[in-house]
Amino acid sequence: MTETTTPQRLSGRCLCGAVAFTAVPKHGMHACHCESCRRWTGGVYLGVDCGDSVEVATPGAVATYESSDWASRSFCRTCGSTLFWTLKAGGMTAVSLQAFDDPSVFAFDSEIFIDSKPGNYDFAGDRVRMTGAEVLAQFAGGD
Ligand SMILES: [Zn+2]
Ligand SMILES: [Zn+2]
Repeated sequence: MTETTTPQRLSGRCLCGAVAFTAVPKHGMHACHCESCRRWTGGVYLGVDCGDSVEVATPGAVATYESSDWASRSFCRTCGSTLFWTLKAGGMTAVSLQAFDDPSVFAFDSEIFIDSKPGNYDFAGDRVRMTGAEVLAQFAGGD
């Protein structure tokens, strides 16, 4: 994992601008290949764990979908932009990499649910790759 040595509050927004937010990243970015993320984003979810630091200027502009017993997914009510994946137990909100004003600053740390990835694409390069079972075990262990 690439630790952010000097935590810095970064800004971002949705496509239409109704949702503006700031957040402090804890790590670089991860890619999630699970079926829910692929359906939700129309691609692969590239997320940045920002802990509980997300502050939205206009909370009423955000809609939230409870996608499982343990996580919810938030998006802009107006334009539908993918914004936040939130662990209901707290401690983790993965902010969409592409919602940040400068997505280029994050290291590509890991790929998760690698066993759910369709076989017709791959990301080049070497990084941590975890199966869905490995990810769920990590959540269950309170890591
Ligand atoms: Zn919007
Ligand atoms: Zn996912």
